[in-house]
Amino acid sequence: MQKISIAIHGGAGTILKEDMSPEIEEAYRQGLSEALEAGYAVLEIGGTAIHAVKAAVVMLEDNPLFNAGKGAVFTKKGLNEMDAAIMDGSTLDAGAIAGVRNVRNPVELAEEVMLHSGHVFLSGKGANDFALKQGIKLEPDEYFYSQYRYDQWREIRDSDLYQLDHKNDKLVGLLKDKKFGTVGAVACDKDGNIAAATSTGGMTNKQYGRIGDSPMIGIGTYANNKTCAISCTGHGEIFIKAVAAYDVSCLMEYKNFTLQQACEEVILKKLVAMNGEGGLIGMDAKGNAALVFNSAGMYRGLKNSDGEKIIGIYAD
Ligand code: ASP
Repeated sequence: MQKISIAIHGGAGTILKEDMSPEIEEAYRQGLSEALEAGYAVLEIGGTAIHAVKAAVVMLEDNPLFNAGKGAVFTKKGLNEMDAAIMDGSTLDAGAIAGVRNVRNPVELAEEVMLHSGHVFLSGKGANDFALKQGIKLEPDEYFYSQYRYDQWREIRDSDLYQLDHKNDKLVGLLKDKKFGTVGAVACDKDGNIAAATSTGGMTNKQYGRIGDSPMIGIGTYANNKTCAISCTGHGEIFIKAVAAYDVSCLMEYKNFTLQQACEEVILKKLVAMNGEGGLIGMDAKGNAALVFNSAGMYRGLKNSDGEKIIGIYAD
């Protein structure tokens, strides 16, 4: 019988137990669990993988703990510019948006691009105008404001450095200790169709107009029933150079790697050699999942019809 399964992430990086209060850890675990259950509920009633990944990512976008949607970080101009993508492995249909502002759920806009734009990737003002035309929910700037994100940005706004999503991180310019934001989901439905979605605010103090790996099809997000569905999180510039998600797919398609082997090859070997910190979640069409990262931790979750449910934060 076909296994149904969903995996999610909420970012990877230097996530250490000693830096976390029990309350904050519990809030993260709860946020991950709620998103996982929202996605799994879709699969359980016979819904599609694409609907499941969207449901999970919407929950994470609405949670200010994660760097996507409501919790998106500030750019160098003190704005929130968000990127997202979604891909259906059964058709290879994909939709992506970059640099959008005031969109409550960027993953919904990405899906709208996939379904109704006749294109795959819209950016900036064009993407925002498309959101307006399609009646996508918008929010005022204040919706995206949080003191925590604002303080993160204020600390470095007068420099040319940009920072991954963690208050205590060293600056990325120094490539030391870091944690990444971004949320994502991959799922396999009762028909053996798989899908992936990723959504992010990018990096604090990022250059106006900078686009990361998350919305790029084949890099931060990819899905193909023949191989795998992938959602990445990490230092986007390096994931782009590594063509990360599609590389996992290629290892499976052309070299007959299993999902786990392919994910490990890309994250634990190729990206490590390039100094690319981060991780990914993967799913194949049999419902097998892989949650692989080369950083100290990755916010993550997995639930399937074999009765497994995992919520993880640290490397354990
Ligand atoms: N990959 C994202 C980016 O570079 C950041 C992250 O995963 O936290 O925009």
